[in-house]
Amino acid sequence: MNKIPPFDLSEQFKLIGAEINAAATAVLASGRYIGGATVETFEKAFAEYIGSRECVACNSGTDALLLALRALDIGVNDEVITTPFTFVATAEVISAVGATPVFVDIELDSYNLDLAQVEAAISDRTKAIIPVHLFGRPVDMTRLMAIAEAHQLYVIEDCAQATGAEWKNHKVGSIGHLGCFSFYPTKNLGACGDGGAITTHDSQVSERLRRLRDHGRKGSYFYEELGVNSRLDALQAAILTVKLGYLEEWNRNRQAIAQRYQQLLSPIPDLSLPQTDTSGRSVWNQYTIRIAESDPKAEQARRDVVRSQLLDKGVISMVYYPLSLHLQPAYAHLGYRPGQLPKAEQVSREVLSLPMFPELTAEQQERVALALKDSLG
Ligand SMILES: *Cc1c(COP(=O)(O)O)cnc(C)c1O
Repeated sequence: MNKIPPFDLSEQFKLIGAEINAAATAVLASGRYIGGATVETFEKAFAEYIGSRECVACNSGTDALLLALRALDIGVNDEVITTPFTFVATAEVISAVGATPVFVDIELDSYNLDLAQVEAAISDRTKAIIPVHLFGRPVDMTRLMAIAEAHQLYVIEDCAQATGAEWKNHKVGSIGHLGCFSFYPTKNLGACGDGGAITTHDSQVSERLRRLRDHGRKGSYFYEELGVNSRLDALQAAILTVKLGYLEEWNRNRQAIAQRYQQLLSPIPDLSLPQTDTSGRSVWNQYTIRIAESDPKAEQARRDVVRSQLLDKGVISMVYYPLSLHLQPAYAHLGYRPGQLPKAEQVSREVLSLPMFPELTAEQQERVALALKDSLG
């Protein structure tokens, strides 16, 4: 029996491999591997796609977030409010610049930051908020920007899982002060390796970002401040430029797949399906359901039992994320206690991400649904 993987990048390569090969070969033949026109072409195309004035490409989504904080002079003694239910990089970079992440709880429906709690967490030391458009679903940016404006805070959007997502017809990454993107291979727009970008309307900030990603360099071997080495390779830029042309089609496929899951799974008891919001457009980096815990004291979460039953039927599902960041050993020094952010903790016990990639077939989805029905029905 064929396994159904959580994502499958080889299917995509079968479709556009010839184009990717041609673009990569052109870069290899050019002899220009770092910087240059290929990178600038991608930056222009990506800025235009997002609807932001500037795009600064860099080496990863993590570096995009790090450079964003550096460019806004956020560091020691500053607090940055963010979600504990995200990939570690979101908080890691706050710590990396010497600032303190302040975790607030999430909403069960969207898995995104609970904005009422964001407002309550603002202190004299708060400098910025990092919302994460988790699994491709946009945060309510109207409400978040109003809160940020009232308190004069920066908003750095973590768009790593949401390239192409929209809030009220504006692409995420064009709404906050800065938008940070990851081109990790399994993201909606993925390179063949690491890559990232920062978008902004502020040309002064983008100029600083361009320096910071290249050791703080201003001119040849002249440095007013220190930066990092975080450039996007020309090879990746060429590949991303090809793939950007397909992103809308792939995101539409993801939306159709999510809709089909919604129909197939709604009759199954004890499943919470992802909610959609008509003000936003999710691009479904993940299709994440919740399986309610019947016995909170049980040694093994019911979700984990279902996951291994799915695996027996050849369906590989994933758990993003099994332990909320506020309870990670790496953040023990912040002093959070179990029970303090109850929704993030509940969700980390209950979530299960089903196979989701643009080439997933209806037949594969039916097998996923059948396996879940057998497990729960
Ligand atoms: C993937 C991801 C990142 C980090 O991106 P990399 O390119 O892997 O460094 C940051 N935040 C979120 C929410 C992510 O999913």
